Parts: sequence; structure tokens; C-alpha cells
Amino acid sequence: MNNQSIIPRIYNPISWFYEQKKEEEIQKDVAANMDFYSDISFQKFLDDNHPLSQNYEASDIVKINSDFTSNRSSNFMLREEAAEMFEWMARAFSNAFEFKAKLTINSARRSQSFQRQLSKNCSNARCANPWTSEHEAGLALDLGVNGWNIKAWSWKYYQWLIDNAHLYGFHNSYQKWMEIDGKMVEPWHWRYVWTWLATLLHDRWQTFAEYFYENIENKSNF
Ligand SMILES: [Zn+2]
Repeated sequence: MNNQSIIPRIYNPISWFYEQKKEEEIQKDVAANMDFYSDISFQKFLDDNHPLSQNYEASDIVKINSDFTSNRSSNFMLREEAAEMFEWMARAFSNAFEFKAKLTINSARRSQSFQRQLSKNCSNARCANPWTSEHEAGLALDLGVNGWNIKAWSWKYYQWLIDNAHLYGFHNSYQKWMEIDGKMVEPWHWRYVWTWLATLLHDRWQTFAEYFYENIENKSNF
């Protein structure tokens, strides 16, 4: 994985960068810089047909360390880069609302045994099967604000995330309908995919699943 250590923190030139490029060139960049199939990749696509390897355990899981969440962030863990980028995002979020609002973390990295337990009592549309959850990969967070869950799209706090989370590499995985990805809409579920991919998805108004099935799967020749 090259280039992934170069992470724009606040200003994101990637939207501009994509605007200047033709579709063909974008696909070449994607092929050169992103990996949708390896467990360890930040772009590892996950669904029932694309699970994690059974013995995979991310080796870079850390506690989240932020003073800008409404509950204690260190009770939750993510892969290191995702945690760090979340910390920047939580700070920017709170700042945008003059520190009167803070993100709440309701869930982050989940162990495989926890996910197995969870999916037993829950439909596949609501809870991912074991080995297919973005939480197990250590890349996803379920977010609220000041202790409230994010439920409505019209909410100004959700709108902030939709407008800004890609700058920090986060994407709202399930924001369209069941027929796109077989999942219920979950405005609270944000997954780290890295700033390039998050920005691409933001600019195209596509979910990761839409993008993956339209552009990546079965198109290995770009
Ligand atoms: Zn979730």
C-alpha cells in the first residue's frame, strides 16, 4: 500500500484533484492506490460474499483518545489510523458547533465473538454476519451526538458529517436502500475507507457498495 501515509488533515485537495481528471484516469489511480480485497487494507470491501479471513485480527488496534466526544472515547477501539482520523474529526465537529455539541461513540471495533453473538439475535439487514462486519475490521463507528442517536437525515449534525466526514476518510456505509446493499439505512454507521475513497464516494454521492459493484468487482482490467 503506497501513499497511504500522506493524509491531508484539514484542507482536502482531493475533490479538486478528481474534478480535473477523466474517469479513465481516476480508475487507474484507484487501481494503483487502493486494495479492495486484502483484510489489512483500509478499503477492504465487506459483505457476505467478501468476508474477512477467518484468522484475521488487525494488529494495530488502539484505544480512541479524544477530549471531544460526549462519552469516554477510551472505552472504544479502532485501528490506529482510523482512530487518529476520528480524533481529528471529533475535534472539528465540536468546533463547528462552538463546542456545544460532541460526537458520542456507541460502538467501534467489535471482537468476532461479540459480532457472532450480536448477529444471532438480529436480522442480516440490521447486523452483519460474523467475519463481514466493518466493526470487526476495526474500521467502523456507530455515532451519536451529545448522547442522542443519529437517526434523521435532516438533522444538522448528520448534515455536518455528510459534508465533512470524507475529509477525515469516513463514509456513511448504509445510506441508501435495501436493494443497493441488502442493509437497512444506518445514518449512525461511519466507516474509515481513507480520504481518497471517501472523497470519491462523497463527490459521486455513491455508497461504497454501489461503487464497488459498479467499478471494481468484475473489472480487473482497468
Ligand atoms: Zn455500525
